[in-house]
Amino acid sequence: MAKPRYEEVRCKSLLNRVRGMDFAWSINPYRGCVHSCHYCFARRYHSFLDLDAGDDFSSIVFVKVNAAEVLRRELARPSWKREMVALGTATDPYQPIEGRYRVTRGILEALRDYRTPATIVTKGSMIVRDIDVLASLTERAGCTVCFSITTLDEDVWRRLEPGTPPPLQRLRAMERLVRAGVNAGVMLAPVAPGITDSMTSLDEVARRAAGHGARFLSHTVLRLNPLVKEHFTRFLHEHYPQLLDGYRRMFPGVSAPQQYAHRLSLAIDGLRQRYDLPKSRLPAPAEAPPPARQLAMAL
Ligand code: SF4
Repeated sequence: MAKPRYEEVRCKSLLNRVRGMDFAWSINPYRGCVHSCHYCFARRYHSFLDLDAGDDFSSIVFVKVNAAEVLRRELARPSWKREMVALGTATDPYQPIEGRYRVTRGILEALRDYRTPATIVTKGSMIVRDIDVLASLTERAGCTVCFSITTLDEDVWRRLEPGTPPPLQRLRAMERLVRAGVNAGVMLAPVAPGITDSMTSLDEVARRAAGHGARFLSHTVLRLNPLVKEHFTRFLHEHYPQLLDGYRRMFPGVSAPQQYAHRLSLAIDGLRQRYDLPKSRLPAPAEAPPPARQLAMAL
């Protein structure tokens, strides 16, 4: 993997409106991600910056250094309704550079202070550094942390997600969050056909998730958008050439066939029952929050 280069940028706004999801807003503290998962759907967003979805995505990372300051201004608006905010939908908020810049921590502190519920997706075990903020955000507004874990097979993990912390390390981080009262669990996401979808592999993830106290288990199926598909095909060529034909048949477009997705859902429902893991991942919205103007004045 190429050596990462970090570029500091100052953003004008931070909250992005999202429609059709469990959350109303998203925040990405960084653009690009050194975790370098080959299936990452966010790879294509780098092309909007005239960069490529391959090595550039995982080696040129933009750091929104003024994120917390901008977010506090946005959250202080009287129109802010304290809807659910998702962190890390297109980058990992706990990739290694967070240790230096602490952008994600600043964002979480702002969400906590403005009583705004959040959901976080991460593979970064560094999240345990922020247990104090996550616990207080949980108490004041609600917070869910989804640890993305696709496999516990070391060989598959190294090939598929070469820049990420080991899956067991993520499970241990999740366990510490659960012990601190945070609603944390596992997202088996994305399930990659022929690579991470055997019953043995899925069962192992569910069993270990339960063993480490996961509060839920959810999943998604691999999607191959343009550019991501090209990158993933190169990855298959190098690591799983025997799967190339099958993938061509399965992914003429972006999504896997519905029958496949349905069979997978049934299999994962069975694992949830076996290990007593619920599906839901988002906390209920915080009860009767005070109007934003009052809250801002109280701070
Ligand atoms: S950790 Fe998430 S954002 Fe980063 S490369 Fe992997 S899937 Fe993409």
